[in-house]
Amino acid sequence: MADPIRIGLVGVGKIARDQHLPVIAASPDYNLVAVASRHGSLDGVPNHRTLTEMLAARHGLDAVALCQPPQARFQAAREAIAAGLHVFLEKPPGATLAEVGLLVEAARARGVSLFASWHARHAPGVAPARRRLSGRRLQSVSIAWLEDVRHWHPGQDWIWDAGGMGVFDPGINALSIATHILPPFFLTGATLWVPENRQAPIAADLNFTDAVGTPIHAAFDWRQTGPQTWDIRVEAEDGTLVLSRGGAALSIDGCDQPLPPEAEYRGLYDRFAALIRGGESDVDLDPLIHAADAFMRGARRTVEAFTD
Ligand code: NAP
Repeated sequence: MADPIRIGLVGVGKIARDQHLPVIAASPDYNLVAVASRHGSLDGVPNHRTLTEMLAARHGLDAVALCQPPQARFQAAREAIAAGLHVFLEKPPGATLAEVGLLVEAARARGVSLFASWHARHAPGVAPARRRLSGRRLQSVSIAWLEDVRHWHPGQDWIWDAGGMGVFDPGINALSIATHILPPFFLTGATLWVPENRQAPIAADLNFTDAVGTPIHAAFDWRQTGPQTWDIRVEAEDGTLVLSRGGAALSIDGCDQPLPPEAEYRGLYDRFAALIRGGESDVDLDPLIHAADAFMRGARRTVEAFTD
């Protein structure tokens, strides 16, 4: 058994508390040695306000998990890589494509592992869906990612700022699954609905196609109250596959498939440990490319102001 990876965490917010900290605590592969957060804190380990202070304290860190919003990720990642640490990037891996490219090059030059995590790809239905669709001729794909922003993102201003991506913050999870289970595709048109007092869309309608013309439609909407929907429906020549609940459930031709329990972040941390021990990086930019294309190619419609 290899020595545990001495890890620090930056940005003690919702996802750090909901997933990262419990999964790190339960894993024999990791030893949490410090956190850095300006407002958040954690009992039982040294707390620092910033990554810079955490690095200066010389905890003997091997790695850091960066759990801030995307706009803050590049500076921290660059600093951690320069200090010789392996880096786990929350999704999306950056606020721009080019900055992530620089991080890939910096990690390669410094000989550390860089991991752009896409947690939704570790949902239990995704791997079987990918196997099922491999080599099949597809007829159409329909993605619906409909949720209530007031429930899931209360008080998160960064998400509405430039670089916060608005409804693409959850929508990119759908794109991370779609890019994993479907053949390569590209955007043909989009509409983004942007509240008049915000920088980022509250809803988006996206049309894609692939090399053989398969229609792929995605609807992302943060104005959904009541039942929440995170579904991907794939019509193939020989049947229908539906991934629902964000990949936690899978049905094929109407039959629910038996799946293991949800363990997305355990899967991510297992992968990060394997990358570190294998001296590799894993940075797939495809989901971020599609989100960026939507901002570049999409029509914008202004809608009523959004207040929490
Ligand atoms: P959050 O609750 O707002 O927490 C982010 C933390 O990052 C904050 O508590 C803040 O801690 C720190 N931070 C550093 N720079 C910041 C800045 N410029 N603006 C705001 N906060 C800053 O956000 P979150 O929901 O955990 O999301 C963080 C990242 O995880 C996002 O990229 C998101 O897409 C991803 N994610 C979130 C979820 C989820 O369910 N919420 C699920 C999967 C992935 P200090 O102020 O203490 O420094």
